[in-house]
Amino acid sequence: MSASTESRHFIQQIIDEDLQSGKFDERVRTRFPPEPNGYLHIGHAKSICLNFGIAQQYGGRCHLRFDDTNPTKEEQEYVDSIQQDVRWLGFDWGDQVYYASDYFHQLYEWAVQLINMDKAYVCDLTAEQIRDFRGRLTEPGTDSPYRDRDREENLDLFQRMKEGEFPDGSRTLRGRIDMAHPNLNMRDPVLYRILHATHHRTGDAWCIYPMYDFTHGQSDSIERITHSICTLEFENHRPLYDWFLEQLNIFHPQQIEFARLNLAYTVMSKRKLLQLVRDRHVRGWDDPRMPTISGLRRRGYTPESIRSFCTRIGVTKFDGVTDMAVLENSVREDLNRHVPRVMAVLRPLRLVINNYPEDQVDELDAINNPEDPTAGSRKVPFSRVLYIEQDDFREDPPRRYHRLAPGREVRLRYAYLVTCTDVRKDEQTGEVVEVHCTYDPATRGGTVPDGRKVKGTLHWVSAAHALSAEVRLYESLFSKENPDDVSDDEDWTANLNPDSLATMTACRVEPSLAAAESGSRFQFERTGYFCVDPDSSANALVFNRTVTLRDSWAKIEKTARNKS
Ligand code: ATP
Ligand code: MG
Repeated sequence: MSASTESRHFIQQIIDEDLQSGKFDERVRTRFPPEPNGYLHIGHAKSICLNFGIAQQYGGRCHLRFDDTNPTKEEQEYVDSIQQDVRWLGFDWGDQVYYASDYFHQLYEWAVQLINMDKAYVCDLTAEQIRDFRGRLTEPGTDSPYRDRDREENLDLFQRMKEGEFPDGSRTLRGRIDMAHPNLNMRDPVLYRILHATHHRTGDAWCIYPMYDFTHGQSDSIERITHSICTLEFENHRPLYDWFLEQLNIFHPQQIEFARLNLAYTVMSKRKLLQLVRDRHVRGWDDPRMPTISGLRRRGYTPESIRSFCTRIGVTKFDGVTDMAVLENSVREDLNRHVPRVMAVLRPLRLVINNYPEDQVDELDAINNPEDPTAGSRKVPFSRVLYIEQDDFREDPPRRYHRLAPGREVRLRYAYLVTCTDVRKDEQTGEVVEVHCTYDPATRGGTVPDGRKVKGTLHWVSAAHALSAEVRLYESLFSKENPDDVSDDEDWTANLNPDSLATMTACRVEPSLAAAESGSRFQFERTGYFCVDPDSSANALVFNRTVTLRDSWAKIEKTARNKS
């Protein structure tokens, strides 16, 4: 048992009490129960970290269970991606992987048991009629005309449902509870429906499928889960789960609800994420703009950063919206400690050093990571023609602009001090296309022997040595904090941010990146953190911007607030 002194969230407190009272024989067993109908997202990561984390803290175990009761929406592709993502996040279920579909037979037996107890009946109402008969929060429902069917008839009909005699939607099996119950979930809920559909695991063995509510709690019970942790919207399903467990008189896990994660400027519903993929608003489930685990991975997020984010946001009973800045800070902090620095120019401007010999190349020492002395240094080639960022030169510099301008001296990182002497312009557009400088040979390595002050330090690459690269810059997928905030004639996709992806194709990066492998991460000095995209190849490098160096959200939020 964990004896840590850190503050404990309400779920840990409940478990502590259960262990003290001996409610569950001193063992803790949790589970992460995805429906394999989409890819996992950052909200699932919260649940994964919580469930696997608790199992680790208490020396218990955590099951991975696929709640696969809906064959029309579920696919093996999702099962595979879910396993990959949970593993990538750093969690291990050992051989404890389970499928609700493995319990179909047991669930069927339990349904028959309920019929035999007069606690379930076959109902011939359509889905729409069932909804109409259900009543409202303030109004009791109406009994189904089939509610008092006798037991033999129910048993016979249910078996014939199973044997495929009836078409989809023609009949259901319903619990016989209370049509006037204040909790709508208790008003004779549907337990089974007819669905002639091929299941990704059970094939055509079944043409009736148990509803999620009839499956979930009993699956937990079969696996002897002690603490069945779920999100708040299941709070009013708990009485129904309890009812099934009590009627069937089987092991009773403790359900505990917590607040789901909501992130500003994105959507988290799998239905919506699927629509983004299907309608090609994004390139796929792993598009780096998606809040999916696979999208975040492709974007350059580390498993550590996602886990530390989940720790940081904590576990509560109150729904809220978390700022994107919290997620971004987690990855920034992690990358800052671990990834190598390199120089890359996203919007190149030629810089020619007039007094530097034509064919000379100098190999300069550059520090790989100032946060990590063991990371060492590398050589960066320097020559007469370089590229700097267009933004780092102004012909007519505004106040407090400390970068390059005519007559100004700046430091080229790890290299020399240079002074701008002249510019070349495009004759037609008047745009500056080349900056001319002289360099001071006494300042090699960027040192200033006479102590004179230089305010700006610029990154650069040597034109002859640099590699071309494509760099993809990402902004939030939605331009509104709450994407559902739309007028009556619009839907949430109206809030998609048209500028969420900017592809820069003329970038130049230092030659040490030639061998950078897909997935490897870097800090481009002064620009941000980047990661090699799987689209990248040796002669066509592609990088994704994971996150900028500093929090740009504070500013965005401020501007948004001032506008509204
Ligand atoms: P959706 O409603 O978008 O389809 P879901 O909750 O049905 O999502 P599941 O596959 O059932 O998706 O989720 C598996 C587990 O992850 C559940 O226990 C669920 O409570 C949890 N989960 C899902 N979304 C979040 C979230 N945003 N924050 C925390 N936990 C979540
Ligand atoms: Mg669910």
